[in-house]
Amino acid sequence: MDRASLIAALRDEDPGKLKLLRRRAYEEKIRHFGSRVHLRGLIEFSNRCVKNCSYCGIRRDNAAVDRFTMTANEIVECASDCYRRGYGSIVLQSGERRDGDFVAFVENTVRAVLQACGGELGVTLSCGEQSPDTYARWRNAGARRYLLRMETSDPGLYAALHPADHSFEERLRCLRELKTLGYQVGTGVMIGLPGQTTAQLADDILFFQDLDVDMVGMGPYIPHGETPLAAAAVDFDKNRNFLLGLKMIALTRLALPDINIAAATALQALDPVGREKAVRFGANIIMPNVTPTVHRQRYQLYEGKPCLTDEPDACGSCLEARLRAVGERVALNERGDSPRFIQRQKNR
Ligand code: SAH
Ligand code: SF4
Repeated sequence: MDRASLIAALRDEDPGKLKLLRRRAYEEKIRHFGSRVHLRGLIEFSNRCVKNCSYCGIRRDNAAVDRFTMTANEIVECASDCYRRGYGSIVLQSGERRDGDFVAFVENTVRAVLQACGGELGVTLSCGEQSPDTYARWRNAGARRYLLRMETSDPGLYAALHPADHSFEERLRCLRELKTLGYQVGTGVMIGLPGQTTAQLADDILFFQDLDVDMVGMGPYIPHGETPLAAAAVDFDKNRNFLLGLKMIALTRLALPDINIAAATALQALDPVGREKAVRFGANIIMPNVTPTVHRQRYQLYEGKPCLTDEPDACGSCLEARLRAVGERVALNERGDSPRFIQRQKNR
């Protein structure tokens, strides 16, 4: 799809056209993945962060946040639970730190997780911007995938959302470095940011294509009261952002048919069945939150985060029932690597 048709599709409010878009995107999803959804157990292992992104609830300057880091043993236990439940993959996500202790902690924890799970579990990291050496160490420890959202592909909007010492170029450098190191690379954007245009969102999809990413995880922007950006988000329109989120998923599925696309948790924050709807719009990945309940409320990137008090054990059966209701099922005991990545490896 070219830029003009992407913009037109994002702006179109005709229900008939929306239905058609959903049907086409879902057909592509079925063609590549069947009626199956892969799970990634999301472990939010630390809310300590050196960054100060203006939209994020755990930004450095939010003094109201009670900071925590899980122990390596806690993380291994959580990961092993996922493995036992048949989740083929986990995501270890945290605030950003670049100090030596943190780098070594992540490296050792990845090794310990893989040792506990016989090397079978797919480990994804989402720990922000790091040096090439750090990314290489974590890759050697066994991490296969990395999620680093670009947040927006527009350098001007990026600059408006971040303090002056946060660099668009550096983030892009990280994404390229991760690809070179052989990670399956995922990126994404926030949808419905204050000041964001549909043309910028269309460019985001073209950006995913240009970078030839293996995975996309994107979701609606949701204000958090303790952040500077909340003041600019006074006209926050929950329904508009939700719908834009679904359209972005469908258009990304059409642009990059064989990549893994996550139904972001933020969609569920705006609509109780948001993730299931996202699957019907072409997503094939769901990331159940398996962070121990005691830590979960301290990792609030945005307000209204769902499942704050649910025990991880309950997630599996809840998700199965939810997916069955939309004619899908959970694919268990498989890593669910990105078909695009596998194909690229074969072509080498
Ligand atoms: N520190 C790492 C990973 C944790 S943040 C990083 O920044 O990459 C993970 C993602 O949460 C961010 O990439 C951002 O897209 C999303 N996020 C942060 N604040 C948000 C908000 N208010 N609404 C929606 N998504 C948000
Ligand atoms: Fe830190 Fe990530 Fe939040 Fe930015 S988005 S403040 S890097 S946790």
